[in-house]
Parts: sequence; structure tokens; C-alpha cells
Amino acid sequence: MTSPRPLDAVVVGAGPNGLAAAITLARAGLRVRVLERHARVGGGLSSAPLTLPGFIHDVGSAIHPLGFASPAFREWPLHAFGLDWVQPDAPYGHVLEDGTGVVVERDLEATAQSFGEDAGAWQALFGPLVAGWCGLLDDVLKPLPRLPRHPLTLARFGLRGVPPATLTAHLLKTPEARAVWGGLAAHANLPLGTPGTGAAALLLGTLAHTVGWPFPRGGAQALADALAAYLLFLDGEVETGVEVRSRRDLPAARAVLVDSSPGVLLDLLGDRVTPAYRAWLRRYRYGPGLLKLDYALSGPVPWRDPALRRAGTVHLGGTLEAITGAEAGVARGVAPERPYVLAAQHTPFDPSRAPPGHHTLWAYAHVPPGTPDTYATAIEAQLERAAPGFRDLVLARTTTNARQLQAFSPVFQGGDVNGGQGDLWGLLARPVPTATPYRTPAPGVYLCSSATPPGGGIHGMSGYWAARAVLGDVFGK
Ligand SMILES: Cc1cc2nc3c(=O)[nH]c(=O)nc-3n(C[C@H](O)[C@H](O)[C@H](O)COP(=O)(O)OP(=O)(O)OC[C@H]3O[C@@H](n4cnc5c(N)ncnc54)[C@H](O)[C@@H]3O)c2cc1C
Repeated sequence: MTSPRPLDAVVVGAGPNGLAAAITLARAGLRVRVLERHARVGGGLSSAPLTLPGFIHDVGSAIHPLGFASPAFREWPLHAFGLDWVQPDAPYGHVLEDGTGVVVERDLEATAQSFGEDAGAWQALFGPLVAGWCGLLDDVLKPLPRLPRHPLTLARFGLRGVPPATLTAHLLKTPEARAVWGGLAAHANLPLGTPGTGAAALLLGTLAHTVGWPFPRGGAQALADALAAYLLFLDGEVETGVEVRSRRDLPAARAVLVDSSPGVLLDLLGDRVTPAYRAWLRRYRYGPGLLKLDYALSGPVPWRDPALRRAGTVHLGGTLEAITGAEAGVARGVAPERPYVLAAQHTPFDPSRAPPGHHTLWAYAHVPPGTPDTYATAIEAQLERAAPGFRDLVLARTTTNARQLQAFSPVFQGGDVNGGQGDLWGLLARPVPTATPYRTPAPGVYLCSSATPPGGGIHGMSGYWAARAVLGDVFGK
């Protein structure tokens, strides 16, 4: 009888980055095992019946332009493992103060024209990036010190993305275009006057005009399950219900990749780290958390402006100034009376997520630490203002706060969905300012979560690049 081939690598955590790391190693011919503490794979990329039986809700991520366009995911045959993307009629919409909706189309030209006197400015902002989106994505979804392959497009991106979103907003004149820009920039989870917030707006805005803002049919879990199925197909192994608390819980392998927080990494490394590295990781900063609401509804969201029914994602928060004020309040520790709310309506485009005729809504607002769950009323009031009669449709509601998100995955420390502050320094020193930030002082141990470049979002590229580092360092590939 032949004994099984020894393990080459162990991945702690089956979030999108852990799974992407494992697939990258398995594709290189290594024997890999993933250990996940939950009963299912996915981490922030998972779905569950959070309200009532038959209603499928996304526990974390809901909208996946980065997942659809990810250079790694794009290359892998995930459709063969059950992944089917749903494109809403329009990527996103924005609710203005009076309830009027602005709907942003995939078509850049049509969207620009809808902004009237800002048509030229919108074209100038996004046109060059839309033309070079694929190269742009390759360059921004990798560790910063790497030489860009498309320097001109990246320079254009930097010119408008590095300054604060509020500065770039001066290029726009109409309240509509400025509000839409603000709604995009607020995805950065930072005050809009922070350098780097323009980058979130530019990247997500560019993807809306190219690949759209799609989501997996049946729930975000379908993408995680397709990744896990592809890994099994490559002879990788997945063990769920296993929490790795110390090195003793790890099977013998030449490499360990940790899809978790810098804090968990330190626990696993024990005394094998230098004091300087430990100090860096202890100083690692997180952004604000959020309060998330999941609804089971007896009908579709009754938007005051029916045009918003066409959008998969809807930003609520009014003018650029109102959103800027709300996000600045969160950073100062004040929960705004009228928060910026990010909402995703899947069921008008994917009825498989709810019983016939019924719907779900996924919504959250950024909140300062310690915000009580009763703040849900402020979020719901925003929804009711934009969609009068919304409350009457609610069959059930589940609230998830920052503490619960952190308990769900250590990556979301303090409820920060991006797994770490996304300002310029937070991107440069993620978690340490080195050329290969995945590497730790302990030989063979690597960090591969969104606490490494390129950071938060479902794209798997932190895992991919960490695995590439492992292949070079440990296996000479
Ligand atoms: C509410 C919310 C909304 C979001 N919305 C979006 C969105 O719409 N679009 C988007 O692109 N992104 C979104 N994100 C961000 C996205 O979900 C994260 O950036 C992404 O999940 C990070 O992936 P990861 O693999 O680094 O970490 P995670 O997804 O957190 O996965 C880490 C996994 O490792 C496991 N683990 C950790 N430590 C251990 C251990 N010691 N032993 C065993 N297992 C362990 C965890 O249980 C978890 O399953 C959202 C996140 C949240 C929370």
C-alpha cells in the first residue's frame, strides 16, 4: 500500500482569499489542505437563510464587480462548478434628497448624457479608464511595489484617485453627478476628504461601465462553493468545522497560509516573530464598522422613483455634501441622523433567492464603535423616505452589528468590512511596508487575507499573490 503524498501547504481559513490561495497552489501541483472553522466555506462570501425559511441572504458581500472581473477568478473555469452570474438591468442607482433616483447604466455614454452639463466631465473622468479597464484592474489588484504593466492608465487613475474624493468632485457641477460620485466614494469606508477615497469611486465606477455590478445566482455562497469545488477537482482538500488556535492544531506541511487577521496570525506565530514585526502588526489599523440589516419582504421595494427598480445596488444619502457630512460624523464617533446607506436588491433579478412573489433586501450603514442595534431605525427611516410603504412589506428583519461580524470572521475586526483601514498608508503598509507583505519572519508562514494587498473586496487576489510568494520562496517555482 502506498502512503499518501505529504501535505505541501495548509491554508487556515476558507474565505475567498484562502480558497484563491489554495487553488493557486493546487494548480501548481502542490498538495493543499484548507481548514475552516465554520461548517461551510466562504467567510465573507457566504449566504444563509438569515430571516425566514426560503429567503437567502448574503452574510457579507452582496455585489461582486471585483469578483466578476478578478484576474484570477476570470481565468478559472468556475462556471463549470455551478457559478452563474446575474446582471441587474442597471449596475447601481442613487437616491437624491427629494426621492428622485439617478440610475447609472453600463453604457458610459448614456450615463454621461443623463448628467446634462456634466456629460463631458463624466466622460473625461471615466472614459480613459473604461478604455483600459482590464489593464487597470491587473495593476491595482496587486502589491503596490510591482511595476505597472499599463503605466499610462495607472497614472490617470492615480491623478484622480489619490486626491480626496471631495477634491475630484470639483470637476463635477450638477448635484446629480456629484451625489453619484459621493455615493461611490463612500464605499471606501473613510471620510470623503481623505486622500485615496477617489480611488474607490474611480475603480467601482469604471467597473460599472464595463463589467457591470453582477452577483452570483442563488447567493454569494455560489461563488465560494464553485471555488471549493474547483479546489477539490484539483485534488485539494477542505476540512470544515476546524478552528486553528495554535501551531499545534496544524498538520505538518512546508507552508502555512493564514486567511485571517494580523492578530490571529500573531497568535499562531507565537514566539517566532521579531519584536519589530509584532509591533507593526499590533499597530495595524481598522476602519469603522457597520450595522447591517437583512429583510424578508412581501413585495419588491416600492421606490418613490420606479426607475430605481432597475438597479441592483442603490445608494441612499442624498447630496455629496450630505454623504460627506454623514461619513465624517462616523469618523468622529457620531452616528448620523440620516446615514449613507448601501442597499442591494437581488430578487428582482434573481427570484431563486426568495419564495415566489417575495423579495429580500440587504442594506448597511457605517457606524462608530458601540452604536446600539436600535440605530437600525435610522437606516430603516432612510429606506422608508426613499420607498414609502417599505415598512409595511417587512415580514422579518435581522440585524448584524460590528461585534457579530467580528465573531463571524476575525478579518472583520470591529466590523470593518475591508479588513483594515483603506487610506493611502493603510494600503502601503498592509500589514507591513515591505515589497512582499505576505511573508512573515517565520519561514514558511504567510498571511493571505484582505489584511494584505490589494485589500478588501471579493477578488481573491490577496490569496493569489500570497500563494505566488509561497511558490517562489518555499517551492522554487
Ligand atoms: C457586511 C459585508 C458586506 C460586504 N460587501 C461586499 C461587497 O458587496 N462586495 C465585495 O466585493 N466585498 C464586500 N465585502 C468585503 C468582503 O466580504 C471581504 O473583503 C472578503 O470576504 C475578505 O476575504 P478574506 O478571505 O480575506 O476573509 P474572510 O472572508 O473573512 O474569510 C476568512 C475565513 O477564515 C476563517 N478563519 C479565520 N481564522 C480562522 C482560524 N483560526 N481557524 C479556522 N478558520 C479561520 C473564517 O471563519 C473565514 O471563513 C463585504 C464584507 C462584509 C462583512
